Amino acid sequence: FYTRAAPLRDAQGEIVQWFGTNTDVTQIEKAQEELRAANRRKDEFLAMLAHELRNPLAPISTAAQLLKLSDLDPERIRRTSAIITRQVQHMTELVDDLLDVSRVTRGLISLQKERIGLRTILSDAVEQVHSLIETKRQQLSLEIAGEMPSVMADRTRLIQVFTNIINNAAKYTPEHGRIAVRVKQDADRVLVAVEDNGIGISPELLPHVFDLFTQAERSPDRAQGGLGLGLALVKSLVELHGGTVSVTSAGTGRGSCFIVSLPVADGGDAGGEKLRSES
Ligand code: ADP
Repeated sequence: FYTRAAPLRDAQGEIVQWFGTNTDVTQIEKAQEELRAANRRKDEFLAMLAHELRNPLAPISTAAQLLKLSDLDPERIRRTSAIITRQVQHMTELVDDLLDVSRVTRGLISLQKERIGLRTILSDAVEQVHSLIETKRQQLSLEIAGEMPSVMADRTRLIQVFTNIINNAAKYTPEHGRIAVRVKQDADRVLVAVEDNGIGISPELLPHVFDLFTQAERSPDRAQGGLGLGLALVKSLVELHGGTVSVTSAGTGRGSCFIVSLPVADGGDAGGEKLRSES
């Protein structure tokens, strides 16, 4: 403890009482260490960000040089411009995520809520990830227990939530893996579980997957790219919808399961969609 004390004196200058404060130094040291760790994470994040933004520039530049050649056949031109489009799209997604994180952190995201059935949301999200799933020859199934409830949600933002989670499931699951999206209603909540049989999440990483700037420090390898912004955004967006998101994994190599819980829109299932299970 660090003690600071001051005397209270009477008219003759005699000390009649001491006033003091005791400060727990270990608490201060702990807070300072946390600050230093947060700073380190930010520095690492900046380095990673620079790297991720720098990476696509080389192929874009080479492709642009190639396109200047006059003797390129149409097929080569098509393939070369596809490289540019893909890399620019990757950079755009990254910058969009960064802008979103900054908006969420400053409380600047406003939701345009409407009553929507989850079916459209989930099919749109699956659609966004379709080509990755197809390329990796993975199997995706959508299972709905009972009726599909409606939620009060911002369509674009909720699609973004599920696209992120399903995209991760595809990204962190090897070829021919399985991804299951299951929906069920539990009283006034609807639960959407996205389960994969991919690389899984270690017990050390598990409590931190929703933190900002986590990936650099803790991910076992950086082979998959990415900045670790997606799930932090997912969490903020789900919470803005009055929901929660959680994750379980039996460990490395044993798959992961993300569960989003959202309040069902008032008025029960009216307006919800009747659905049968499909694969
Ligand atoms: P990114 O994928 O860009 O790194 P995310 O915020 O989406 O960022 O994910 C954070 C981390 O959580 C990932 O780097 C990865 O280690 C882990 N992760 C997320 N989803 C899965 C999943 N389905 N399977 C295994 N690990 C996952």
